[in-house]
Amino acid sequence: MKINIIGGGLAGVEASYYLARNGYKVNLYDLKPDKLGPAFHYKDFFGELVCSNSLKSVNKDNASGLLKGEMETLSSLIMEASKFSKLPSGQDLVVDREVFSSYITNKIKDNKNITIISKEVSELEEGEDIYNIVCTGPLTSSPLIEYFKGKYSSSFCSFYDAAAPLIYLSSLDTTNMYYKSRYDKGEGKYLNVPLTSQEYYAFNDALVSGERVELHDFEHFEGCLPIETMASRGRDTLRFGPLKPKGLEKEGNRPYAVVQLRQDDVAGSLYNLVGFQTNLKYSEQKRILSMLPGFKDVKLARFGLMHRNTYISSPEALNRDLSLKNDSNTYIGGQFSGVEGYVESAATGLLAAIYLRLRLENKKGVYFPINTMMGSLVNYLVMASPKHFAPMNANYGIYQYPFKMSKEEVYDYSIKSIEEWLKKNF
Ligand SMILES: Cc1cc2nc3c(=O)[nH]c(=O)nc-3n(C[C@H](O)[C@H](O)[C@H](O)COP(=O)(O)OP(=O)(O)OC[C@H]3O[C@@H](n4cnc5c(N)ncnc54)[C@H](O)[C@@H]3O)c2cc1C
Repeated sequence: MKINIIGGGLAGVEASYYLARNGYKVNLYDLKPDKLGPAFHYKDFFGELVCSNSLKSVNKDNASGLLKGEMETLSSLIMEASKFSKLPSGQDLVVDREVFSSYITNKIKDNKNITIISKEVSELEEGEDIYNIVCTGPLTSSPLIEYFKGKYSSSFCSFYDAAAPLIYLSSLDTTNMYYKSRYDKGEGKYLNVPLTSQEYYAFNDALVSGERVELHDFEHFEGCLPIETMASRGRDTLRFGPLKPKGLEKEGNRPYAVVQLRQDDVAGSLYNLVGFQTNLKYSEQKRILSMLPGFKDVKLARFGLMHRNTYISSPEALNRDLSLKNDSNTYIGGQFSGVEGYVESAATGLLAAIYLRLRLENKKGVYFPINTMMGSLVNYLVMASPKHFAPMNANYGIYQYPFKMSKEEVYDYSIKSIEEWLKKNF
């Protein structure tokens, strides 16, 4: 029997370490240290944080905090590393990135069940007794993408380099907003946010002066410009572009500009901001969006971003145990599986390894509890509409919990579900 784990990022190290500490020998393949992918800086580190050094909230009443609690319950390596490398910070888990990754790297290198192989994988080994867990991330190198496209179909891998923020409708004051599609045409009803000239220009100017993420060579926009770039081309550019009010009159009156919100296909509680793909820093996105009328307390489920993101079409390609429908010996974890975020990526890497272990121990058909944030993420991956599928991070919009529970109660409930599940199955 052979287990190959491809990719030593956050997901791949979780998967390798989980299987290794449970007695399985694994081969961990990565481009590093021979080759360095476009977003990476450290040749010698596995589990590198490619951008921010924040792993987001640790609060029990926060979806990201819940995800971390679940990962800790499963003895996650990245949670262990984050405790070791934690920096003083408020409600977020902020780490020293070098201490974090070197802790992980030492754990991987010191484990005799893990064989590290520096190689760019361009095709997967196949055989009855050979298992693969692919965790090559949003920047999966092209030979492997081509392999998947050739073996399955060209639609197997999706790709985007821009996404608008996703917000919770419940966090908005919708009193002055109204539903209407442009010229009352088309199926989709948009929720419209009318802006006065004063509100529009204040918002426009804030976009222009907002702090942006440093751009790297690999980013390319191809006609899909960040909203702040459009705003900086002229103070009226946006109101003749994505904030155009024409056709969105309210009771015969045309607002000066209109921000349009489109219901996200999967969960009715989440809305997309139309045309708001952005390269602004996460903290700036929140600050500037709060300036819009009715957005004072806006909560973002996913921030806008602009970088290459390759992921498989999970609703079409994946089984509930994260194995491929077309090749059940191959499992997919990490951002390549269609989640978004550091901890989310590590979580699906860990789940892929747990599912492989269950299978090797003849417990096929046992599934991780769905009434958890990790279970909800996988549920989203396999149940989302393939047509509109886009990577998702931890949020309560995808988690079906009993309505009357407080967020703290949801936390305790989810952790208890995992503890009981572990006791029953291992
Ligand atoms: C530019 C950028 C910035 C991001 N910023 C954030 C952020 O601030 N916060 C956040 O929560 N999320 C962020 N993300 C999203 C996501 O959380 C990270 O990409 C995360 O690192 C994904 O983890 P992963 O393990 O799936 O993949 P990765 O961490 O990317 O690891 C994949 C590994 O696979 C290796 N690999 C790739 N192709 C091959 C191949 N063919 N053969 C062998 N090895 C291969 C790579 O060398 C790499 O080590 C960002 C993503 C990008 C691209």
